Amino acid sequence: MATVEQKSVEATQNGGADGRTFAVDNPATGEHIIRLPDMDAGRVRELVARAREAQKAWAEQSFDDRAAVMYRARQWMVDNRERIAKTVMEENGKTREDAMLADVFTTADALGFWAKKASVYLADERVRSHSPFVIGRKLIVRYRPRGVVGVIGPWNYPIANCFGDAIPALMAGNSVVLKPSEVTPISSLLMEEGMRAAGLPEDVMLVATGTGETGAALIDEVDMVMFTGSTRTGKKIMGRASETLTPVSLELGGKDPMIVLRDADLERAANTAVYWGMANGGQICMSVERVYVEEPVYDEFVAKVIEKTRALRQGKPEGPGSVEVGAVTFAPQVEIIERHIRDAVDKGAQVQLGGKVADGPGRYFQPTVLTDVDHSMQIMTEETFGPTLPIMKVRDEHEALRYANDSRYGLNSSVFTRDLEKGERIARQLTAGSACVNDAVMNYAATELPFGGTGESGIGYRHGAAGIQKYCEVQALMVTRFAPKKDTFMFPYAPARSRLVERLSVLLYGRVPRKYRDR
Ligand code: NAD
Repeated sequence: MATVEQKSVEATQNGGADGRTFAVDNPATGEHIIRLPDMDAGRVRELVARAREAQKAWAEQSFDDRAAVMYRARQWMVDNRERIAKTVMEENGKTREDAMLADVFTTADALGFWAKKASVYLADERVRSHSPFVIGRKLIVRYRPRGVVGVIGPWNYPIANCFGDAIPALMAGNSVVLKPSEVTPISSLLMEEGMRAAGLPEDVMLVATGTGETGAALIDEVDMVMFTGSTRTGKKIMGRASETLTPVSLELGGKDPMIVLRDADLERAANTAVYWGMANGGQICMSVERVYVEEPVYDEFVAKVIEKTRALRQGKPEGPGSVEVGAVTFAPQVEIIERHIRDAVDKGAQVQLGGKVADGPGRYFQPTVLTDVDHSMQIMTEETFGPTLPIMKVRDEHEALRYANDSRYGLNSSVFTRDLEKGERIARQLTAGSACVNDAVMNYAATELPFGGTGESGIGYRHGAAGIQKYCEVQALMVTRFAPKKDTFMFPYAPARSRLVERLSVLLYGRVPRKYRDR
């Protein structure tokens, strides 16, 4: 039975591919919502061609004109927040708070941020050269849109990590073809409708619904791929993109560590661990996935985490404040969570709380706390992406750091201590794209800070200047006003001039600067 408002779906003009469709279900109830077109390569090519045509006029608009569309879209999101949150909740199974704060308002914030910052981050940069050979030339770095950007997104944030990545691409003057996850595609169709309502010109943003094959076909057609999803798929994306030398930006999985030192505010650390371990059902790329606690405060910290986790309510998300933990969005994820717990228990871990699939209807996994864990266990090394908190006892900060960095991932990380100097020192040694002291995840709200992963957590950045410059080609301009008829080094070569150029170069490069001589 269709429960989500389907106006947007019916309004979508994109059509299907030979009648092939796929099903979208509500994970919180098990109910069927709708079937949508599973677009093939031909349909994708058509969409990209339309987007390419529309891009030319869009790129010619001023930043202010594009910003006006984004601000109207922001207002549309706020005015339609109930409908959007309901759509996200129904196809994803997350709580109202997770939908409203992290999808609706985070994206509303991003619309305003990029509307304001695009012209700053993409302004022409005048540079001065160190080279005496180009004295007097005007040198400019400029950013121009790549053309059509393919945004491929995951199911855990159907708006923030799908449409959200389209915003800076659009502000930079690109058009976008958005391929949402087949698990949660309706939210993107709704945003397509919203952008049209906000006055985005026809075809500047189009949604290609479909499975992985639709995403793969998109890579062949676009000028850049912005991908958010699993590390496994990220590798496939990069492989496919290499065939056309299409640039990629990859926001992938994580196994984010939290370190709790003996002098930490344990109450704050425990609240943060439980919140950022369990929010969105633990289905956040940068959720707290593993915790290392110094021996003297281990028992107290574990007791606090158990008590706070026990108080969490889980079930079908309804109105504000109804439940803290929603459903497991994607069916195969249940097997992964169970496998990680089984593997840990087989190797000696203790399940302090939860550990099992919860009662339905709908698909739920009990909020779970594990102790006696170590790095021989998948739960400490592989992305679990569920409501699980494994907590490991460590001797000291050195051991904590060593374990925290013992990972192929490197997305976000955190350290809790009252000694800020020590905290920052440890944060700087964490091999992760972001590191927080006495906080976790909230760095994501500081959109000025670049966000991206090291290791197998990704390539490239979202947010900050890098988060929009990546959607552009860089063009270097040199404008020469005053110049002799012929530069000294030009043909024909003559002994005297060649020697002069050589002597000049020796003068320039033949010496170590005084400051470095004794080092
Ligand atoms: P996924 O990799 O299974 O799918 C992501 C998208 O890729 C979907 O739209 C899917 O249809 C598409 N896809 C699948 N195969 C493809 C192919 N061969 N070519 C092109 N596209 C293809 O990821 P998921 O399960 O939807 O999302 C969960 C993952 O996303 C987790 O690992 C999580 O950590 C990660 N994630 C990362 C961030 C971040 O910012 N780093 C944010 C959110 C989620």
